Amino acid sequence: MKRLDPRIRVDTLAQLDLKALRQKGFKGILIDLDNTISPWRQNRITEEARRFFREAKALDFKICLFTNAKPHRAVPVSQNLGIRCFPKAHKPFGVHYRAALREMELEASETLMIGDQIFTDIWGGNRAGCHTVLLPPLYPKNEFVGTKCLRVLERIFGYHQTIRRSGN
Ligand SMILES: [Mg+2]
Repeated sequence: MKRLDPRIRVDTLAQLDLKALRQKGFKGILIDLDNTISPWRQNRITEEARRFFREAKALDFKICLFTNAKPHRAVPVSQNLGIRCFPKAHKPFGVHYRAALREMELEASETLMIGDQIFTDIWGGNRAGCHTVLLPPLYPKNEFVGTKCLRVLERIFGYHQTIRRSGN
């Protein structure tokens, strides 16, 4: 199941060594919204995520909110954070990964795709050639029914033994 395996697994965003990744040549970050930096369908960004974006900007990463959410939710969040936005990304399909990378003038191989879902963020990111990073979801209990089904599959495939509460 190589196509589903993230390249990096961390328990929190703070565990991701951005400085080391920057030194290795990574320049870009595509990051998911729901349950990665914000509780599902809320526009509240966790403190953990705010710290992460501050560090990533200081290290001169190009950052884009890359989400399947609609623009009316995603755009205000990205504006609030001062990062780019690519809503309705249709993860895991590759076409919008390529479009976002083109827009940001990044190669997939120098870009991290960070998210909480195997069958959207990670699968799509791997297929696009990004360096994928899996985080446990923030609040998996309040999700869309389709996502809940994917969570069952994630457990069957052995992912996500834990959930993340540290981000509050
Ligand atoms: Mg998510």
